[in-house]
Formats: sequence, C-alpha cells, structure tokens
Amino acid sequence: MTPSDFAVFDNFQNTINGQQTSTTEKRHSINPASGQPNPDVPVSTPQDVDRAVEAAKEAFETWSEVPPSERKKAVLAFADGLEKHAQEFAKLLVQEQGKPLQFATLEITGAINWLRETCDLELKDEIIEDSDERKLVVRHTPIGVAVGIVPWNFPLTLCCLKLAPAVLTGNTVIIKPSPFTPYCGLKLVELAQQVFPPGVVQALSGDDNLGPWLTAHPGIDKISFTGSSATGKKVMESAAKTLKRVTLELGGNDAAIICKGVDVEAVAAKVASLGFMNSGQICVAIKRIYIHESIYDRFRDAAAAFTKTLKLGEGNEEGVFMGPIQNAMQYEKVKSFFSDITKDQLSLSNGGICTDNPGEAGGRGYFIRPTIIDKPAEDSRLVTEEPFGPILPLLSWNDEKDVIARANNTRMGLGASVWSNDLDEAARIASKLQAGTVWVNTHMETDARAPFGGHKESGIGAEMGLHGLRAYCNVQTLFLKK
Ligand code: NAD
Repeated sequence: MTPSDFAVFDNFQNTINGQQTSTTEKRHSINPASGQPNPDVPVSTPQDVDRAVEAAKEAFETWSEVPPSERKKAVLAFADGLEKHAQEFAKLLVQEQGKPLQFATLEITGAINWLRETCDLELKDEIIEDSDERKLVVRHTPIGVAVGIVPWNFPLTLCCLKLAPAVLTGNTVIIKPSPFTPYCGLKLVELAQQVFPPGVVQALSGDDNLGPWLTAHPGIDKISFTGSSATGKKVMESAAKTLKRVTLELGGNDAAIICKGVDVEAVAAKVASLGFMNSGQICVAIKRIYIHESIYDRFRDAAAAFTKTLKLGEGNEEGVFMGPIQNAMQYEKVKSFFSDITKDQLSLSNGGICTDNPGEAGGRGYFIRPTIIDKPAEDSRLVTEEPFGPILPLLSWNDEKDVIARANNTRMGLGASVWSNDLDEAARIASKLQAGTVWVNTHMETDARAPFGGHKESGIGAEMGLHGLRAYCNVQTLFLKK
C-alpha cells in the first residue's frame, strides 16, 4: 500500500498479515443521523480469525525483540499519520458514530496527544537487590497476541488506547471494532500498516459471532475489552477456559455530589454538559446528580434552562452539541427509560424523544432531546441503571453520610465527583467514594500518565499510565547469582 492509496476513505477491509482482505459475506452499519446505510465491511469467518492469530504469533517472534525505543518511534509515526488524516477521520467518525464534528475532531486530537504522551512513559526494570552475591530484578515481558475489543461510543480513541500499549510493550494486537462502528477502527489499522511490520497490528470486522470466537481462541493470550458490564462478564468467562489475561473497562453510573456553597448557575451548566456530552453515551458521563437541598430548586432550574440551549442535530450542522443515539438497539433502550417516567408520573423538565425533524436528518435519525428528571425515586431504573443516553436524574440531599452511602449504593464504580468551594469538605467526601476515578470540581478528565479503570462491576485492571502498560506484560522475577 502506498500512502496515496490510503487517502481513499470509502473502502473498508480487514487487515491480516499486512494485507487488506475482504470476505464473501458483507454487512454495513447505519448512519444514525439519517438512517442511511454506511459502506460495506467484511464479516470475518473463523478461518479469518485463525489466519490473523497465526500471523500475530509469527510477528510476535520478531516484534517482541525490537528495542522499546524503536517501538516508540513506530507509535509516534502512527500518531503523525493520524494527524495527517485527521480531517478525513473526523468526517468518518461523524458519519458512523453520529457525534458532532467539533467532538469528533476533539476525539482525534485527544487520541493523537494520548499516543504521543504514552510514548513518554517508561516501564523500567525494578532492581530489588544488586549485591556482591546476586542481582534480583523484576522485569515486564510481553504476553503475546492481544485482542482489543472496542465499543461504539468512542470508536477511534478506544482503538488507539488498545493498540498503542499493546505494541509498545512488544505484543502484537488484533483490533475488533464494534459492528455498529467498524469504519474508523478498520481505517486506523490500515494506516498502521505504513509503520508496523505485517502481523503486528491487524483488524477484523464481523458480526456478533466474532467477539466470542476471539475470546475463546487458544492462540490469543490477552484480551483488552471495553464495553458493557454484562458482556464483560461473558468475556471473562470465556477467557477463563485458557486463562487469558483480561483487562475489562465496563459500564458506569457516576454520581456527582453538589455541595451548598457552589456557584449554582456555573456548576449547573457544567454538570449538565458533562451528563449530555456524546448524548450521554460515555462510560464516565455524570449519570446521577445529588444536589444539596438548600440549593436544589435553583440548581434544577439553572440546569433545565441550560439544557434548553443545547442544540441537537446532525453532526455536521453548525453549533450542534448533541448528535443522535448511535444505534437502534440503544435508541430503544433509552426510550424505555422515558416509558418508565410516564408510568411513574415523573416530571420531564424539558426534552424527550424527538419525533419532529431536528435538522438535516429528515426525522429518521435516532434523536432524543436532553432531558432532566426532577427527583425520581432512588430505586427507579433511571437511578439504579446506566441509561447511556441523554436523560439525567436530579436528587436532593442534606446529610453528608447519607449522600455518600447513596452515591456508593451501586454495583458500578467507574467515576464520581464532588463539587464544592470548600476543598476540605470536597476531599473528605471524595475520599469515601468507591470509584476508579474521583474528581473534585470537574468530571471526566483523564491523563495519559494516570490509570483509568473501574472498581466493582465497572472493570478489572486499568488502561493508561504505567498500569496500562503493565496490563500487557507478564511480570518476571530474575535471580542472577554472581
Ligand atoms: P457491548 O458490551 O455491547 O459491546 C462492546 C464490544 O464487545 C463490541 O465490539 C461487541 O461486538 C463486543 N461483544 C459483544 N458480545 C461479545 C461477546 N460475547 N464476547 C466478546 N465480545 C463481544 O458494549 P457497547 O454497547 O458497544 O458499549 C457501551 C458500554 O460500554 C456501556 O456500558 C459503557 O459504559 C461501556 N464503556 C466503558 C468504557 C470504559 O472505559 N469503562 C468506555 C466506553 C464504553
């Protein structure tokens, strides 16, 4: 493939052993803003899986011996390639995922920065002893063939988040994008062929059979999975049969606790936007807002007024903040939360399901207006489950111990935040929250140097930072008798 061949953004194939390959059977996903079909993609077979695994195993023999500095150079060159094609990727991301162009562009620049910053990390050998008698060293050795299984909410970032740490640590990797959003992932891996030897980075697209085939395959040594907690449990069960190493990045039900001293209007707008970004389809979106009762009414009204200003529409339209729900299955799921609301006679502050035309979409897209729900019952589905859509429950609190218990009263433990002008109060509450990431006066921020992962049923292990690199390594203790 020459760099100019890569410029074609309407042809999507598997990458197996450095070659673009297709399959007899094809499928396609739907542009969620218009209902129009996107281009065809391969439907991989078990034979395609075998071929990719064989190529990955062979490539591992040499790639694992390549010095880390050379592996970093390849990842940096990959980041440069992505930067060169950022505009085409952003357009494709809008088309397949539905997110507004401004956020698609942010997803790509964020991924490029993250790739570069991850190359600054160094997983060093740990010297426990270096005496006259012996040297005792803890090393990190690559595991082998990794698979990265990616969901549909951040199809590009999450591919990069699996690809880079896998290959930096000397593994080879097969990327499996979501059947709902296969396009950016396939194209990213095609781009990667410009810098990685054949078999080091591969991609397979397919239907719902492909994930289980990969997790069960005896030639695969490591699975990094991002998706729902329900699927994560199936992945772990399948991996257990051959004791594959697993990293699971799963669902969340993040609480934001708002204390009484805050600037109500500013915080209400910020918190609402952190709940509605990507139409609420973010694992660490704010999903439950606990507001101190002394400011509850003002906060609710400010959040509702702000929410009315958020523009919903097709991602290429000027000023759009929210696109559609990504796929029909998720659209039906989010709508079911609205049916509960009608049933329970809860008040809709604004919003709802969009039956009129929100923009260019001709009314066929999966559009749902951002909606705030005033004090639903603490045991309603809206509070206890992850809607993964633009519907946000507001709840009130007046006792610190009680609100901490309510925030922690979930099997999820991905993120949580405290919003307060009193940093002692915020730190006290934050220290008691059961989540992989806890923020004060912000939410959703990540950093390439810091691990990101979930407690409880939100995950196992972590991505990002040195923890993220170690996730692709076996630990090895070396006793050197002198
Ligand atoms: P999903 O679990 O339905 O699918 C995720 C991926 O797994 C897809 O590629 C899918 O094809 C594949 N898959 C499905 N069944 C499989 C099986 N049995 N074995 C192997 N692979 C299988 O999730 P989704 O609906 O695509 O994504 C939404 C969920 O992902 C939400 O719960 C969200 O919170 C979570 N998520 C978590 C993070 C995180 O970092 N913690 C990030 C993004 C999304």
